[in-house]
Amino acid sequence: MKMLLEGNWVERDNKIEVTDPFDNSVIDTVPVASKDDVETALAAAVKGFEITKRMSVYDRAEVLYKTAEIISGRLDEFATVIAREGSKTINEARKEASRCVNTIKVAAEESKRILGETIPWDSFPGGEKRRGYYYRFPIGVVLAITPFNDPLNLVAHKLGPAIAAGNSVILKPATVTPLSAIKLVEALLEAGLPPLAIQLVTGYGAVIGDALVADERVRMISFTGGVEAGKHIARMAGIKKIRMELGSDSPVIVWKDADLELAVESCVSGSFWAAGQNCIGVQRLLVHKDIYDEFKTKFVARTNKYKIGDKMKEDTDMGPMITEIEAKRVEKWIAEAKKKGAAVLTGGGRQGALMEPTVLENVPKGATIHCDEVFGPTVNLYPIDDLDEAIKDANSLPYGLLAAIFTSSIDVAFKAAYELDCGGVMINDSTDYRLDSMPFGGVKYSGLGREGLKFSLQEMTEPKVVCFNLPDM
Ligand code: NAP
Repeated sequence: MKMLLEGNWVERDNKIEVTDPFDNSVIDTVPVASKDDVETALAAAVKGFEITKRMSVYDRAEVLYKTAEIISGRLDEFATVIAREGSKTINEARKEASRCVNTIKVAAEESKRILGETIPWDSFPGGEKRRGYYYRFPIGVVLAITPFNDPLNLVAHKLGPAIAAGNSVILKPATVTPLSAIKLVEALLEAGLPPLAIQLVTGYGAVIGDALVADERVRMISFTGGVEAGKHIARMAGIKKIRMELGSDSPVIVWKDADLELAVESCVSGSFWAAGQNCIGVQRLLVHKDIYDEFKTKFVARTNKYKIGDKMKEDTDMGPMITEIEAKRVEKWIAEAKKKGAAVLTGGGRQGALMEPTVLENVPKGATIHCDEVFGPTVNLYPIDDLDEAIKDANSLPYGLLAAIFTSSIDVAFKAAYELDCGGVMINDSTDYRLDSMPFGGVKYSGLGREGLKFSLQEMTEPKVVCFNLPDM
């Protein structure tokens, strides 16, 4: 496939092979963008903004509605690309493709609700003769940098609102999974998006990233990815708006009065969805000691039923990790935890990029698999007996995206909701629950600002005040 620069789909001699992590077969190639290509993209995006800022809301919304319709008509095609280039099973990929349709549709709807307000000028002495208002205007060139784990819907979360707001965009998708993003851009153009409105640059973030991030023509960076890349981007960005969706090590508390069946089912799925490569995937399960043994037995039994392997088979529950290197990293973290005293209750094995769903207990606080985001199919169980202590433990790490609690007590739920330090608390769901239109984001190292269509639109527009001085009033 090709990248999109100045309205043209272009190739380069230097290419990246996109492979299926299950069998390492080559699916396609994409060009390696050079620094010259970055310059072309930046200059074209500035021209693109001159067009997009003049597009009516109606026209922007129509492009997005049509895009949603196109994807909806080719759901299987999109799902197959997601499943083949990434880690998701075909069933997980179908869900992502359907979510993407909704994400784009809601972006279209929200474009019609970019509102301003009149300003009560006479609320301060001296303002009595002024009248006016503010409205929101598009921010300019948005640089969207996306990760591999939701290669379509997380791209839609950036392109949808950027276009809805009237911005132009430069998209840099993850190098391992660029194909879904390219297909989304194709659909946008087919739906009538002016070609200069979007530049799609494929290539290595570590090589071309700084030239994009540091450039002053970019007015906003919308980044989703790991903390290390996030810190680097923040250092390089200079004076421009930055939005970041970063990692986490999501805690879930299972209180003694929880519905155990529900908690087990939700948390197994939340731990192993997309082979655990999920920013809101369950990593730490803090289970009340009164129900710990029963929960553990049921959790391990349910995990043991997981069928892993070929992503394209309808009955596969979990596919491979994104690369063998990543699976080896997780294997190493498990070995380190074992050496420090952890017990593996099930799993722990690896074949190529396929990592078994793994459940650990007695994980010491100093183990990497406790302190860092694992981003793989492993979960740690910890017994708890005091809610304050459990909340303190949940809050003890430098992340805070989503947290969750299973309980039938409204008091316990409320206490957790208010005291868990994060961007959202799920009650009687695992952390792996996200509605695409809710404000989504984290505190601490989990990110800056919020995504979720209406909220992204706020971030991707700026208020401009208009004030009339009416001396004769
Ligand atoms: P990553 O390695 O940080 O890469 C993310 C994106 O950043 C890729 O497009 C990558 O390009 C690019 N990049 C890397 N270094 C860069 C640089 N110096 N300048 C500019 N761009 C750069 O993350 P990943 O492994 O793809 O994704 C996993 C991470 O994303 C996890 O930490 C996960 O928690 C996080 N995530 C967060 C959310 C959320 O909403 N909070 C959602 C999904 C994932 P290359 O691919 O070319 O390296």
